[in-house]
Amino acid sequence: MEREAPDGVTGCVQQLNRRVCVKCGRAADSCYCHLIVSLNNCFVPVVILRHSDEVKKPLGTARIAKLSLTHCQLIDGVDYSDSLEFQSLINRAEPARLALLYPGINATPLQPLNLDQMKARVEGGDNCGDFTLIVVDGTWRNTREILLANPILQSIPKVTMSFPVSRYTVRKGPAEECVSTIEALAYSLDYLYSGQGAFLRLLDAFDYMVDYQIKRMGQEVFARNYLK
Ligand SMILES: [Zn+2]
Repeated sequence: MEREAPDGVTGCVQQLNRRVCVKCGRAADSCYCHLIVSLNNCFVPVVILRHSDEVKKPLGTARIAKLSLTHCQLIDGVDYSDSLEFQSLINRAEPARLALLYPGINATPLQPLNLDQMKARVEGGDNCGDFTLIVVDGTWRNTREILLANPILQSIPKVTMSFPVSRYTVRKGPAEECVSTIEALAYSLDYLYSGQGAFLRLLDAFDYMVDYQIKRMGQEVFARNYLK
């Protein structure tokens, strides 16, 4: 039986015949928490709309963001019409203050923030966040399902950027330019913060998780199933 532990408490709990980290939810020997760093993203608060199918996936990456980013909200579901968290997200700001990170012909390329201006505004008493970045977490089919189930998302300005080739080599995407949620966040936040590199630290735990998975399956299986 699994014993629940309070959120944020480090350590492991016994779950059937294995020990599980209460923070990252992974087996103790694959825990990546030693690579989690706290990253202040107050200028760009992040909301991750995580598809229900993604919640139990051991290789899900939204949790890395939740553990690392100081301003990160994780909302699980598909149809969010009954979600108070989602409704407060939609209602708490003007549509222009929200941005949905999603590719498409209507998506605007991301632009780096004017950090000096933002710091001055915060020092002058303004709220921290310039806009909230919304990310939809799941397979392509999952993300389309969320967009269809929540038409209000269509009214939120879409932003996008060109990502490097994905390092998520243990999961197949429909195209090479597809990246995992944590990669999308790491590259987007890094770009918004003028390429200073801090947010690329999000990829430390991610790379560790991928490397661990490859070691566990063995190079032969990895090569057969995941390499072209
Ligand atoms: Zn852990």
